[in-house]
Amino acid sequence: MSSNVMTNYGRIDISFDKGIGSYLYTKDGSRYLDFASGIAVTCLGHSHPSLLAAIKTQSEKLWHVSNLYNIDSQSRLAERLCKNSFAERVFFCNSGAEAVEAALKLSRIYHDNSGNPDRWRVISFNNAFHGRTFATIAAAGQPKHLKGFEPKVRGFDHVEFGNIDAVKSAITNETAAVLVEPVQGEGGIHVASKSFLQDLREICNKHGLLLIFDEVQCGMGRTGRMWAYEWSEINPDIITVAKALGGGFPIGACMATEEVGSAFIPGTHGSTFGGNPMATTIANAVLDEIQSVGFLENVVAKGEYLTEKLELICKNSSVIEEVRGKGLMIGLQFSVPSLDVMAALRNKKLLTVIAEGNTLRLLPPLTVDRAEIDEACEAIEVTTKEFDT
Ligand SMILES: *Cc1c(COP(=O)(O)O)cnc(C)c1O
Repeated sequence: MSSNVMTNYGRIDISFDKGIGSYLYTKDGSRYLDFASGIAVTCLGHSHPSLLAAIKTQSEKLWHVSNLYNIDSQSRLAERLCKNSFAERVFFCNSGAEAVEAALKLSRIYHDNSGNPDRWRVISFNNAFHGRTFATIAAAGQPKHLKGFEPKVRGFDHVEFGNIDAVKSAITNETAAVLVEPVQGEGGIHVASKSFLQDLREICNKHGLLLIFDEVQCGMGRTGRMWAYEWSEINPDIITVAKALGGGFPIGACMATEEVGSAFIPGTHGSTFGGNPMATTIANAVLDEIQSVGFLENVVAKGEYLTEKLELICKNSSVIEEVRGKGLMIGLQFSVPSLDVMAALRNKKLLTVIAEGNTLRLLPPLTVDRAEIDEACEAIEVTTKEFDT
């Protein structure tokens, strides 16, 4: 990497030159099986024909006009996202952190408009990740992300993930909202139980709080449903979406009910790039695929297939402690540093991502096939055997 690039990442010294389907290729022709998907972004794999067609056609027509004008592809995307969720209003931005920022600002202005300006605090959870802006690092509360960036933005109260009594005790007259990932991603693939999410809904109703689900990583079909909240059989008031929404093209969204979303009146919030013709045309093409007949059912089936194989490997391994996750969002908990396991797998040409607590994340493209799953599992089995001895 050029020394002119800031050194805020610990980079792996490989440069990829092209990607096709579930594989990435370097210039010298090495082929890697991509079970990281650019951190749950390239949900349709690389060079998907529909996305190539969409970007080519749109790039020859119109790239950007700003939100000073109507944008037809943005309207269409909003309508489709709402038709396929609890939401009725969508704000478009360019990243996950911006989507969470919008959700936080929306929850504050909603209460302000409702005559409760004293409600401004947000309850969030240990081990959370919501992005890297000042507000989102405060929302997640991870000391390692806050270090050097103090004083932190005020107004966040952290409690144990999954502990409903802790949430109850943290509520005050100043609480505006609860912010939670239905499946914690960076935190190590922790799936919130159905009863926990249902209890959150009940408590939020009782106290007039907004329930915000951060689906930046677990949304867009990753868990085998369009949205992870669908598994809980309750609806949040706001969800945040990004990563897979553009299949690799940057776009984020904050989606809300009519009642909550209508608090953003002209002038309250905005984004120059958000929802531009390129991004929203590509996101529409991503939706075409994810909503095609049988696509999500297939994600569920492939997720079960992969999980069963991993559980078998886990049973015969002394270094894998647990397999957890939902759909194609899977975490392997190791008793050895997951960074070392990731490096060993990379040497066998399998790409994965680490997460907190010696967890290894498997985030294959949702279009992965069974032969590719077999190939990945073989690499994992061989590699973990090396760590066993
Ligand atoms: C990645 C992520 C974010 C931040 O997204 P960026 O696009 O990096 O800003 C926020 N929330 C969750 C749950 C994420 O996984």
